[in-house]
Amino acid sequence: MKTVVIDAGHGGTDPGATYRGYQEKTFNLSIALNVQRILSQKYQVKILMTRTTDVTLSLGARTSLANRENADFFLSIHNNAAGGSGFETYIYNGPLNPNTRTYQNIIHNTTYRAIRGYNVRDRGKKRANFFVLRKTKMSSLLIEVLFVDNPGDLALLRKSAFINEVSRGIAEGVADALNLPKKSTPTPTPNPDALYRVIAGSFRNRENAEQRIESLAGQGFPGFVVPTTISGTTYYRVQTGAFSNEENAKEQVERLKRIGITDAFIVRGEDTPAPPQPEPEEPEDGLYRVIAGSFRNRKNAEERVTALAQEGIDGFIVQAEIEGVTYYRVQTGAYADRENAEAQVERLESIGITGAFIIGGGLTPPTQPDPNPEPEPKPEPPVDDGGYKILGDMYLTACQLDAYTKTVNPDAPDLGRFYLKYGEAYGIRGDVAYAQALNETNYFRFTGDVRADQNNYAGIGATGGGVRGATFETPEEGVHAHIQHLYAYASKDPIPAGLEKVDPRFDLVTRGIAPTWTRLNGRWAVPGDTYGQLILQLHERNINHALQEMDEQREQLNDVLDEI
Ligand SMILES: [Zn+2]
Repeated sequence: MKTVVIDAGHGGTDPGATYRGYQEKTFNLSIALNVQRILSQKYQVKILMTRTTDVTLSLGARTSLANRENADFFLSIHNNAAGGSGFETYIYNGPLNPNTRTYQNIIHNTTYRAIRGYNVRDRGKKRANFFVLRKTKMSSLLIEVLFVDNPGDLALLRKSAFINEVSRGIAEGVADALNLPKKSTPTPTPNPDALYRVIAGSFRNRENAEQRIESLAGQGFPGFVVPTTISGTTYYRVQTGAFSNEENAKEQVERLKRIGITDAFIVRGEDTPAPPQPEPEEPEDGLYRVIAGSFRNRKNAEERVTALAQEGIDGFIVQAEIEGVTYYRVQTGAYADRENAEAQVERLESIGITGAFIIGGGLTPPTQPDPNPEPEPKPEPPVDDGGYKILGDMYLTACQLDAYTKTVNPDAPDLGRFYLKYGEAYGIRGDVAYAQALNETNYFRFTGDVRADQNNYAGIGATGGGVRGATFETPEEGVHAHIQHLYAYASKDPIPAGLEKVDPRFDLVTRGIAPTWTRLNGRWAVPGDTYGQLILQLHERNINHALQEMDEQREQLNDVLDEI
C-alpha cells in the first residue's frame, strides 16, 4: 500500500499568512483533514498527517516524518498572501524524482477543474526552493490554494462548499497521480426499503453506540449509527450491513452472536418500527440496576470490581444467562428512581467506566441481552517496534523542560519537577512524558476539551467530542496519573510499593501493550497514525532548545573567564 504524508502548513504559534483575524494555518488544516478523510474513505492508501490539530511543528519535523516513514508522496497544503489571487502549485527547483512533474500536472489540473467554477485564477505550475520540497526524499508538491489576504479569495475560503470542493479535487488528483486502488464498496441496491438491515445493538446513549462501533470495527465489522425515534424516544442503532436477501441478514446476525454481540436484530426498511425491539424496556416492577460492565469472562468482571473498589464504589458480580451465553455483570447499585440510576452511570463515566448501563425489571433475572456486552479483550501480544522506549532513563532537567515550554507559552505552570519525580518513581521517561503533555495540552494552553483546572495533562478520559475526562486534585496528582497511565501501557508490573492508584483508567489498559512511544498510536490516541512520532518530535525540540541554551551559557562563561 502506498504511503502519503499530508502536511497542513504552519500551526500553533506560527499562523502563516494572516488577514483581518483570519489565519492561514486554520484553512490549511481544514483542507488537509478533508483530503485525508476523502482519500482514506475511498482509496486503499496509508495516510500520515504531520499535524491534525493546531500545534507548532518545525519544517524539519515534517520532512523527517516523511523520510523516516519512506512515504511515496509528500503533499504540503498552504494558502498564499501578499498581493495576488488564485491557485498555484510548486515542485522543487532542483533535481527531481522522475514522477514529480507528472504528479504536479495531474494534481494541479484535477484540483483546478474542481474549483474553476468559482472563477478562481490559475496562476500556474511553478518551481521553488522551498524547505519541505528540498528536504523530502520522495516526490513532493506544495499547493497554495488561494490568497488569504485577497477579499474575493478569502470569501471562498470561508465557504465550506469551497473547502469541500477543493479538498475533493486535491484528493482525486492525488489518487489519480499515484494510481491508488479504490476501496471496494457494497453494491448499492435500488430500493432501500427492500433491504434487511442488521442492527448490532440499539442504545439510548449515543456514546454507547459509538463505543459499539469501535469494538465492532476492531473485529472486522464496519458499522455506523442510525438514530431512530420510537414512541418519542431516540435510539442510536448500530447498523452493520444491509442485505436484499433475508437469509444473508440472518447469517450476519449469527456472525455477530459468535463474537459476543447477542443483541443484534434485523429491521426491514426505514420506517418499520421493528416489532422485536430488544431495546431497553421499562421495568414492570422493582429497581433500576446499574451495571458497570458485562463480561463473558468472570476474571474480567472481578478485575472491574477491584478497580471500582479502588474508586470507593461497591460492586458485585451477577451472573446472567442470555440465549445460552453466560455473562458476568458487575452491579453497582439498584435504585427505585431511574434518575438516580442515571446519576450513578454518570458517576461511573466520570471515572472512566464508559460501558455502564441500566437494567430494570425488579428481582427476576433479565431475559434480554445486555445492551452492552463487553467483548473479550483481544489477545494482542506486546510488540516492541524497535522504537524509543517509554521505560528508561531521563536526560533533561526540570528547568530545561519548563524553560522550553515558556518560549511558547510564558504562562505555563512549572511541572518539570513532577514529571521527573514520578518518572523516577515508575522508571518512565518523564522528560518524554512531558513532551506528550505539551502535545495533549497545546503547551498547557488547554485549547481542547480538557480545562486547565482539571490538572489532566494527558487527556485521560477525554475521548473527544467535548468529553472533558478526568479531574485531579492538584497539578502533582495530575502528573502522577499521567505517568501511571503510561506505566499501565508500558509495563506489566504492579504499581510500585508506596504509591497510590490515581489513574481512574489504569485497569482499562491492556498492560504492557505499548513498550515504545510509537506503540501508543491508535491506542492512547484513536485514530493516531503519528501520535508517538509527534511526542518524540516535541521531545527533540525540547532537547534542541536545551542544547542551544547550553551553548549560550558556555559562551557567557567563557566571556566571564576572559574578564577575570
Ligand atoms: Zn504558508
